[in-house]
Order: sequence, then structure tokens, then C-alpha cells
Amino acid sequence: MGVKKIGDIVMVQLSDVDSNIYLIGDTVVDTGVGFNFIRLRDVLRVFKMPMDTVKNILNTHYHFDHIGGNGYFTAAQIAIHEADAPVLENGDAETSVAEFFGGNMHKMKVARKLKDGDVVKMGAREFQVVHTPGHTPGSICLYDKKDKTLISGDTVFANGVGRTDLPGGDFDQLKGSLQRLSKMDVQKILPGHGSVVEKDGTKVIGNLLKAAKPLGEDEEIDAFDNPV
Ligand SMILES: [Zn+2]
Ligand SMILES: [Zn+2]
Repeated sequence: MGVKKIGDIVMVQLSDVDSNIYLIGDTVVDTGVGFNFIRLRDVLRVFKMPMDTVKNILNTHYHFDHIGGNGYFTAAQIAIHEADAPVLENGDAETSVAEFFGGNMHKMKVARKLKDGDVVKMGAREFQVVHTPGHTPGSICLYDKKDKTLISGDTVFANGVGRTDLPGGDFDQLKGSLQRLSKMDVQKILPGHGSVVEKDGTKVIGNLLKAAKPLGEDEEIDAFDNPV
């Protein structure tokens, strides 16, 4: 847990149930579960970015641990892939698994519905939207080709891949997405949970793809031990 600077990107880890939160320019990528917003507010103050000055929220997908904090950024507009947008617009607590986190799902306005290939400006960076369905239908990764940085949401982590056993999940789609990522030139991976991959991201993704299997296929696992 804590705050880490990765060049011009600030990575915030508030708790075990929060997604990683990335601050880039006046944009926040994912907002966590929303229960620890006082801590998040304090972190943002340190980085001279009061919550009410954040202009854009970019959600990597619809799960509540990534969107639960959206409402605290009162001046921000929300962007999410078009396939995941209805869950926010309808306040769909079941699909967003809000209840699992004990959270209240509210209807949210989506200002920008993203598509594969769209370009999103954040600070001095330009990220390409890479549609990577599987964990959810509208999961996205964000790729900055200049320094080969990939913000990967819950599609791929430093030591595993996204689960596909939740509503909207599809393992075959996830595999296809990982195959696509494994052909891209990636160095750094900034995932939705856990630690950063500092280099050789393409290789890491390739190895994880080889080992990937649906959650619980071979052994009895506690589904709640894995990031949502
Ligand atoms: Zn997550
Ligand atoms: Zn998720």
C-alpha cells in the first residue's frame, strides 16, 4: 500500500479492496472502491490535485473496486469503453459486483464512450485505447507507444491474468486479448492491482498467456482471494 511515482504518473494503492489508482495530468485512471476517499483526497492534495479539480475519470472497466470512487470527483467527466458503459448508466449493482464490496451503486453519467483505437490525452501523454475483452466485455488497456507503457486494468497483472468467472467474463475472449497484447511492444505494465512490471512487459504477458487457465479449473480455490 502507499503512493509511488513512476515518472510523471502517480500510482496510489489505498487498500486491499481498492484498485490501483493512477493520476496523470488532470485525469484519474480508476477511482478505487470509494470507501477510502479521505485518504485519497489527502494524497491528491499532496500532489496539488484537489479532488474537485480532476477533470477526467477513465475507468478501465465496470467493476465496483475501480468505479466506486467516481462520485467523489464532482467536477470530472467519466470515460469508459462503450461495452461497459451501460452498467454505469443503469447503476447495475449485480454486474458491477457492488454488493460483493458492500457498496452502493449509483447511476452515473458517461461523457465519453471509448472504442478500440481511440486516443486519450492525459497530461503530456497520449494513450491509445486497446479493447481487451474477457475480464469484462468492455475492459480496456491504455498504451503509450512513446515509452511503451501499458496501463492494463484487470486484464493482466505482474503475476497473473484477470478472472473471468464474474458476470460478463469470458475466458476465450481474455486469451484472445492477451494474445493481442503479447504482440505489442510493451515495457512497463501498470496493472489494476498489485505491483508494476518495470520492464520486458511483452515477455511477461507472453509467459502469463502460456500459463493462463480459468479460475478454479484445476484446483479448489477461494474465489474471494483473487482481485475482482
Ligand atoms: Zn479490480
Ligand atoms: Zn475487475
